[in-house]
Amino acid sequence: MNKKIKSLHYFTICIIILTIILFLINCYILKKSKQEKIEEEENKKINEKNTIEYKADQTIRVRYSKTNEIVAMDINDYLRGVVPSEMPPSYNIEALKAQAIVARTYTYRKMISHGEGEDADICDNHTHCQAFYDKDTLFSIWKKRGFSDELIKEYWDKINEAVVSTQNQVITYNGEYIKAFFHASSPYKTENIDQIWGGEKLPYLVSVENIEKEDYSNRTSQVILLFSDFISKINEKYKVKITNDDCKNVCINEYTTSGRVKNIKVGNIIVKAEDLRTLFSLKSTDFKIDITEDKIVFNVTGYGHGVGMSQVGADTYASQGYNYIDIIKHYYTGVEVETLDTK
Ligand SMILES: [Zn+2]
Repeated sequence: MNKKIKSLHYFTICIIILTIILFLINCYILKKSKQEKIEEEENKKINEKNTIEYKADQTIRVRYSKTNEIVAMDINDYLRGVVPSEMPPSYNIEALKAQAIVARTYTYRKMISHGEGEDADICDNHTHCQAFYDKDTLFSIWKKRGFSDELIKEYWDKINEAVVSTQNQVITYNGEYIKAFFHASSPYKTENIDQIWGGEKLPYLVSVENIEKEDYSNRTSQVILLFSDFISKINEKYKVKITNDDCKNVCINEYTTSGRVKNIKVGNIIVKAEDLRTLFSLKSTDFKIDITEDKIVFNVTGYGHGVGMSQVGADTYASQGYNYIDIIKHYYTGVEVETLDTK
């Protein structure tokens, strides 16, 4: 009998312990799923907010490359200094608006990538970031070019309109700021980004048809090099010893998919067209080569790398009735023009 009671007791204790354990497990599961739900909600909110780091009307810290001084200024003041430094203010207002949005997108992308370090957001060196002159400097440059006071006022008003009327508008692809590359001129066709700099293809930076006014002064240009000058620069750059005979047989070795020159053959070496552009100040890699008795002649078409928006093309399309959104969507395939939330 005693033994029976004992085992009953033992059984009851086991049941109680088991119930407690089950209760605790249940509590834990409930708590965890609640926590997971909260986390999920939070992540969703973060993603919605930060897919693009949407921040309107920002203050930009600009590094002046000559003095290394950093000046904080309103984004609109900064863009008023960028747009006419990158595109002639005589261009059509719709082209200037497109340039303002390209510059704004470039700036915000640069800000979130911290490409300028922690102290500044962007610099005024056009080979590193974007060209920028403050208002006083711009006015003195324009005066030196012989612009009248009326013309300077007209240009400044146009720049102001281009910046303010497109305020907070940026170019996005899949919810991210695009790499807003642009160049001066690429008559006929723009270029695929991977064909120029290698690396990844970008669906919005692909070659598109391009129409450009024919009276643009840099539509075609020519660089004539004596064999001796060509030889000395190539030998120095590539640590080789090319000869006069090699120069006589210089030829284009490979084209990009849009028809620019990718590289040329000089003797036994392959020289990248982008290197030639830098070495011999060619205006673009869209060129033909003529060889004379003792000279190499580069007959060049267009100006710049050819990727993204063509500025001359933007002006041309604007004169044909395209608005700034048409222009942007023409040069950057599949993008959206979005307005940053000011709340
Ligand atoms: Zn920079």
